[in-house]
Amino acid sequence: MKQWMKNVREVEPYVPGEQPQVRDVTKLNTNENPYPPAPGVLAAISAVDEDRLRRYPDPDCRGLIRALADYYHVGEDQVFVGVGSDDVLATAFMTFFNGNDPILFPDISYAFYEVWAEMMRIPFRKILLGEDFRLKAEDYVQPNGGIVFPNPNAPTSILEPVSFVEKIAAANPGSVVIADEAYIDFGGESALPLIQKYDNLLVTQTFSKSRALAGMRIGFAIGDPALISAMMAVRNSYNSYTMNQTALDAGIAAIEDDEYFRGRLADIMDTRADAVKRLGALGFSGPDPMANFLFVQHESVPAVKIFEALRARHIYVRYFAKPRIDNYLRITIGTPAQMERLYTALEEILKENR
Ligand SMILES: *Cc1c(COP(=O)(O)O)cnc(C)c1O
Repeated sequence: MKQWMKNVREVEPYVPGEQPQVRDVTKLNTNENPYPPAPGVLAAISAVDEDRLRRYPDPDCRGLIRALADYYHVGEDQVFVGVGSDDVLATAFMTFFNGNDPILFPDISYAFYEVWAEMMRIPFRKILLGEDFRLKAEDYVQPNGGIVFPNPNAPTSILEPVSFVEKIAAANPGSVVIADEAYIDFGGESALPLIQKYDNLLVTQTFSKSRALAGMRIGFAIGDPALISAMMAVRNSYNSYTMNQTALDAGIAAIEDDEYFRGRLADIMDTRADAVKRLGALGFSGPDPMANFLFVQHESVPAVKIFEALRARHIYVRYFAKPRIDNYLRITIGTPAQMERLYTALEEILKENR
């Protein structure tokens, strides 16, 4: 063993869904938006000139922060932006989760929370979801060093009401409570208005799913100015220029086209309602989906078998070999044409496994 190896941080990294490098795949495995971003986004990216590339970007990200503040009717001092909400969440973990009490998050949830906690040596406790995969507010009333949960939850697609978020924020005035709203735009009601009442509540969202900009890496947090300035101080202690100029411009363009945004969201929600019916007819069931994905199991065929058979047909969905959810598939809502391909493949696979 080399001497330096003693001092290496041992980590078990987050494993993202596959990004197959071949063409002609039906990719329903990483909750990307099946539609292009707003047309103005491409125009904004094309307009980036050499001079803007030569210079450092605005470290305060003022343009994008102003656009978000206007859109969500909050102050500019209540907005933090980062390189996807993963960056925003990691910064929040570094900033707020330095206590000795464990932070709390659901056992079935976004896998990155545990990875960050391990990586940053933050003590944590995973809170068991109920049999119905619901979060229970009373479980989050115990000594803690912070709380984080996605709403809607991943990979279950279950939405909890704003009153649930409020109960947790109200019961834990001494902790920062993070509501990770990566999927809130797909029909959920955001807890954002609560940040005016609870100075310990931080709401994070992303441009990756609802705004079709996963490749650009843009995320944001909204909360009390004291929370935001604490996060800025941490960010400026490791990298003042996390956001590149192109991403800043693309983000502003995406926010500006609200009509396009609402239109594609409606399309995805229509396709989702149809998918529930079509998959139901094939013998699949799962919780009522409130994100851009479904979480389903089949009445007779094991999920892993379906997962592999779909993959062999170049249709990618997500399967988690984890206790309690290892008979479920997480299926991203694609275009109607992509979904037809999925239904056809599933019919074949189910026939073969009858
Ligand atoms: C996708 C996702 C994120 C991170 O998204 P970014 O692409 O980093 O913005 C955060 N939380 C949950 C629950 C997600 O599903």
